[in-house]
Amino acid sequence: MENKIIQGKTIKQWEEQFPLINKIVSTEEVLWVNPKHEEFEETVKNISLKEEDVRDAERRLKRFAPYIAKVFPETQKTKGIIESPVVKIPDMQNKMEDIFNEKILGQLLLKCDNQLAISGSIKARGGIYEVLKHAEALAAQNDMLNERDDYSIIDSYKFREFFSKYSIAVASTGNLGLSIGIMSAKLGFKVYVHMSADARQWKKDLLRSKGVTVIEYKEDYSKAIVEARKQSSLDPKMYFVDDENSTNLFLGYAVAAYRLKNQLEKINVAIDENHPLFVYLPCGVGGGPGGVAFGLKLVFKDNIHCFFAEPTHSPCMLLGLMTGLHNKICVQDFGIDGVTEADGLAVSRPSGFVGKTLENLMSGCYTVEDEKLYMLLKTMIDSENISLEPSALAGVSGPAQLFKNEAGRNYIEDNNLKDKMNNSYHIAWATGGSMVPKDVMESYYKRGKNILDKKSADN
Ligand SMILES: *Cc1c(COP(=O)(O)O)cnc(C)c1O
Repeated sequence: MENKIIQGKTIKQWEEQFPLINKIVSTEEVLWVNPKHEEFEETVKNISLKEEDVRDAERRLKRFAPYIAKVFPETQKTKGIIESPVVKIPDMQNKMEDIFNEKILGQLLLKCDNQLAISGSIKARGGIYEVLKHAEALAAQNDMLNERDDYSIIDSYKFREFFSKYSIAVASTGNLGLSIGIMSAKLGFKVYVHMSADARQWKKDLLRSKGVTVIEYKEDYSKAIVEARKQSSLDPKMYFVDDENSTNLFLGYAVAAYRLKNQLEKINVAIDENHPLFVYLPCGVGGGPGGVAFGLKLVFKDNIHCFFAEPTHSPCMLLGLMTGLHNKICVQDFGIDGVTEADGLAVSRPSGFVGKTLENLMSGCYTVEDEKLYMLLKTMIDSENISLEPSALAGVSGPAQLFKNEAGRNYIEDNNLKDKMNNSYHIAWATGGSMVPKDVMESYYKRGKNILDKKSADN
């Protein structure tokens, strides 16, 4: 391992350049502040995606809303717009101060993407958007649909029969497959979901029950995506949803930002220079959290501070951003196993597209141990009665890590935020959970309880 060359340097040489790598390789929790973080107005000029692209995605989702409301009746109360609430979680904030033995200044909120309709995770944003965009393009090319139509006409034999001549492929650790699979099958497409070893059984079962073809691998996500890409390259009527490079997924996620701004206004949360907002986003390959962060930066500019959260055993985005090597490296190159209970985050190689797009916009990244995820999972149920899947808790530990960690305190100081922290807001992005079967959730809860009991016995 010591003599292994990673992009021209040994691990030791990488550690000399980036001392934090030592801790990352030992799978200790870290918080890294991005030295390339720059002012928004300067940075955004160099990014090819623009606000207009996000607005275009927002309009497309509006066009599809009558169809969504018709085929997914649970979205009728929001008129076919798939959106989640944002809530203050003061009881959780108090309990976290006990668990981490750290005061959290400002107010903690939770963005409840665990409650998103149709697929119960953040993937109901980007994943569904990309399938809808593809369906719209196919139908328009065949003169079956134009933008002024009421899209509820898509719920018909004619459209399903048309889409059944086409297929869609995707690779997933679970949730992206759920979202792409459910939406594509509803439209009438043939769907192939290539699942990595991390994917939970119930997710595969659910997809098969909807007529989706699930292909399983003993390997991790990197293998599944190679195979999915290969399959679709052989079939001109097959569309590949490319989680590592897709701007469509990214833009679908980014739409969340405008909606969040409206939601915050409704609960009298105004973000400005004296009321900064910190957002903590669980990160796998980067598309979901990256798209959301991009949208949020467009809306809140320098008044928002975005952090990616990753498991200590698969900190791929952190390593990619820190070294600037992005998708040229994977965690195994550094001797990290990539094995984590946070199945949604079990990704070894980050998206190069996302890393490069956001390299001057992200404030930093931090890592969380799996045990903490379970402790927080149990505490969230006890304090707020909100059930999240383990991956979704990675964002929740963010504020505690920010205040506890020296790098975090320096970030606050260096950005002249110290005297504003009492007025700050912290949003943990809860990325999934509502589709987890009850017995599985109970086993997660017990796991958290055991860890907490053991911890208090040790003290
Ligand atoms: C997919 C997922 C993420 C991360 O999204 P990426 O686009 O892979 O970075 C976070 N949490 C959950 C629950 C997910 O399913």
